[in-house]
Parts: sequence; C-alpha cells; structure tokens
Amino acid sequence: MYNSSATAGYSNTEYKSRTYVYEVVGLSQNGNGKNLNYSIRKSGSVFITVPYDRMNQEMRRINRLGGQIVSIKALSNGSTSEATTTSVTQKNKQKSMTTTKATAKKKVPVNTYRPKNPFVGKCSDIYDLVDEGGIGTCRHMTFDLSGGEPQLEYVEGQSIGIVPPGEDKDGKPHKLRLYSIASTRHGDNLEDHTVSLCVRKLEYNHPETGEHVEGVCSSYLCSLKPGDDVTITGPVGKEMLLPDDEDANIIMIATGTGIAPFRAYLWRMFKEGDKNPDYNFKGFAWLFFGIPKTPNILYQEELEKLTQEYPENFRMDYAISREQKNSEGGKMYIQHKIAEHADKLWEMIQNPKTHTYICGLKGMEGGIDEALSAAASKHDVDWVAYRKQMKKEHRWHVETY
Ligand code: FAD
Repeated sequence: MYNSSATAGYSNTEYKSRTYVYEVVGLSQNGNGKNLNYSIRKSGSVFITVPYDRMNQEMRRINRLGGQIVSIKALSNGSTSEATTTSVTQKNKQKSMTTTKATAKKKVPVNTYRPKNPFVGKCSDIYDLVDEGGIGTCRHMTFDLSGGEPQLEYVEGQSIGIVPPGEDKDGKPHKLRLYSIASTRHGDNLEDHTVSLCVRKLEYNHPETGEHVEGVCSSYLCSLKPGDDVTITGPVGKEMLLPDDEDANIIMIATGTGIAPFRAYLWRMFKEGDKNPDYNFKGFAWLFFGIPKTPNILYQEELEKLTQEYPENFRMDYAISREQKNSEGGKMYIQHKIAEHADKLWEMIQNPKTHTYICGLKGMEGGIDEALSAAASKHDVDWVAYRKQMKKEHRWHVETY
C-alpha cells in the first residue's frame, strides 16, 4: 500500500532542495501532451520529476494539459533514482518539519488582554451581512483598538474574546465568548488599530418549553451601535495561522460564520498590496463555502469580485443547502461539494505546499473526511493516517464550534 506523505521528516533546507515525482494520468503523447518531456508507460501513467520551487507551476501546467496527478512522492535526498515511500508510521517517528509551517513572520501575540484586565474598545462600524429573504441575523462589526497600552495586535486566523455586560442566572459576571477575527492585522481601514468580527445572532426555540431563546453575547454584539464600548480580551489561537510561504496553496472550507478567518486570509492575499511588502501571495486559494440560501452568502459581493480579479489564484465554490441538489438529489451540504471535487483536492493535498483549513459548524469534519477518504482510497491511501500526518506537518487546521 502506498502511504505517501511527501513532506515528513525533513529539515527546512532539505525540504526545499528536494525534488518530487508526479505520477500523472490522462496525458497523451499525440494530444496536448506532445510538448512535455516524458514517456508514457503502458499503465498510462507518466512520471514527471519536479523541483520543490516549481511544484505549483508544474501542477498548473499538467492541469492545463488535461492531466491528473494521482500521486506525489519525494525523491530520496540527492538521488534521482527512487522515490521515497516511507510509511506514515515510520515517518511519524521522525521529526517533522516543513517550510510551509503556518507561522506568521510577525511574532504571534497571545493574551495581551485577559479577562481580569480586559481592553475596552469602541464599536466603530456595524452592518448586516444577510440579505432580504435570508435566514437569521449575521453582522459584520468593527472595533476601534486605539489608545491601548500595549496596543492589542493580532494576526490573521486568531480570535478575540468578548465579555458581554451583565450577569448570568447565578448572579456572576458573564464569561467571555470567543470570535474569529474577520479582518487582517491591518484592520478593514488599513490603519492598524481596528479589529472586525462576523457574528451570527444565536436564536432557537427551547427544546422543552418552546420558549424563544436568544444567545447572550451574540445578541449583545448584534445590537451594538457605533460609539458603544466593548470589552475585549485576547488575542488567542495559533491553530489557524497562515503559512509564511507566498507560494503555498490554501484550501478553505467554511460554513456560515466560519468564513471569518478566510475573509482575513483573502484580504491579506489579495487586497492589501503595499501594506504587506513581505507577503506577496502567488499560490492558489480555493474556498468552499456552505450556507443555507443565496441571501446568506456572507461577503458575497467582495468575494465574487476577488474571483473575477484573480481567476488564476482564487476559486470559490458554494454549497447552498436549500437551493442546490447533491448527486443523489438531496440537499447540497458542504461535504457533498467536497465530494464533487475530491479527486482534485486529493491531488492538491499531496503537494507539500498545500494547507487545508476548516472553520465553522462543529460536526462538518465527518463528512469532509468521508469525501477525502473516498478519493485517497482510490490510490490505496489510508486517509485518516494521511490526515494525521498532515496535522503533524501543520498542513491540516480545524476550528469548529
Ligand atoms: P449563549 O447564551 O452562550 O448560548 C449558547 C448555549 O445555548 C449553548 O451552549 C447551548 O447550551 C444552547 N443552545 C444553542 N443552540 C441551541 C439549540 N438549537 N437548542 C437548544 N439549546 C441551544 N460565533 C460567531 O458568530 N462568529 C464567529 O466568528 C465565531 N467564532 C468562534 C471561534 C471560536 C474559536 C469559538 C470557540 C467559538 C466561536 N463562535 C463564533 C461562537 C461564539 O463563541 C458563541 O458560542 C456564540 O456566539 C454563542 O454565544 P451566545 O452568548 O450568544 O450564546
């Protein structure tokens, strides 16, 4: 069985100096593939040797030529003879390091403000994200952080805590709730002193009494007005950081407000230009976004504009559960959309430059695992072991709530 992880067990410099072998199917010598320098085996597979720094470029070329990469293997160091096929178990024993490890270049700030000593910011902007005809309330809100000593700084992928005013049913001050940051470190106005959130107001009917219940903190946040004070803690979280590698591929899988960190990533990748001289994204970002109805597509206009402006670097697919049908005629949930593209995703995931991020509703991981497991098993790969290896390599990131 081929248990490939092309990246494990190598130091940063070893990793970059390696070459990889793509096994590709679907290329023909008399068709589009005639310009490629390879020979086709009887099996129909071709093997193309690629240096690390050309991996993405070659992947795009193969795609353009209609080929599909079915496996990626690292060549043994310094040798061009045999591909590395160390098993996942063996590799787990080795120290795993990758150049694409998700650590922002900037030192990652944590807990600058704690619940006992929180920062009091001001709401500077708040607007609706759900269009008419959509379900529920979801708002984008921005808080001014200026005047903080020290300044509350953060990086993309982190969260902040919000302490709602008032007391709980036991007469104790409310506890903080965490919210993923939806803006980049520079803030929506690029002035380095704001933070934005994307908050859904929790509302449900009590399962026993039938009483309409509204969540404490989310209702408080959604009712804020510009100028209101907000008690903030954090930032926290290192699970969802973006890799420094400008050439990384970023797969993002979001449901509902799970879009928040991905908005921050995409703004950093595509919208901040001169603000990020040390980060000029050149990889490929693919967003899967699950929502119930079209009016619930949060940040729709801005996201679709990005797909038009950066078609080579950004792709987005919606799973709109109440409007689209899956291949079996049922509702289209995020896992069905992943299943639709699972072969392509599996191909991307094998590239050591690819990071996968999942954010949003708890419980979405099972379906995603199932879809990717089906794709991996076509190549005799045990998906769960592979995913664990990706996690060790800091290429698999999950934040669900
Ligand atoms: P609460 O008043 O605390 O009520 C929540 C409780 O209500 C639940 O614990 C449960 O007991 C009960 N409940 C909820 N639904 C039902 C139901 N259908 N039936 C019966 N009981 C129910 N939220 C966002 O909107 N945006 C974000 O970006 C975001 N990011 C997060 C990031 C992290 C890392 C985490 C951990 C959570 C995140 N959340 C986010 C969720 C957020 O922290 C709060 O949990 C959410 O806003 C609800 O808080 P609340 O005070 O409004 O609800």
